[in-house]
Amino acid sequence: MACLGGLPLMEGMAELLRWAKLERGAEVVVVSDSFDVAVEAVLRRRGLADLVDGVYANPARFTEEGELRIGKREGGRPCSVSGRGACKWAEIQSHLSKMTSTVDFVCFAGDGANDLCASLSLSGERGDLALPRKGFALAR
Ligand SMILES: [Zn+2]
Repeated sequence: MACLGGLPLMEGMAELLRWAKLERGAEVVVVSDSFDVAVEAVLRRRGLADLVDGVYANPARFTEEGELRIGKREGGRPCSVSGRGACKWAEIQSHLSKMTSTVDFVCFAGDGANDLCASLSLSGERGDLALPRKGFALAR
């Protein structure tokens, strides 16, 4: 697990998570096309795990022999916009529907083509924010 925890974190992401949770009291979720064990290892290694209220990613577990076993993503459906990976917007909507607190607005940070669907689905009426990573596919 040490090698997974050593995976790089997008520049500024730790600061964004801390600001969102500690300064704004936001509900913070990570929606990723990576594996949950990798996302969780990175969050723990960087001291960010307590800031995150949910991780939506492909389930995977290490066996006792050290093999990575990939599971089926619960409730995940393919994204019709990006054509690849799970639909992040559907997972965000699912998370929002389970929240008991009021949602003032959604702030979505992403960088890849698989983040386009969620970015285009944000509500201007609600005042949602899209934070595309500069210089990457989503920003272009
Ligand atoms: Zn989608």
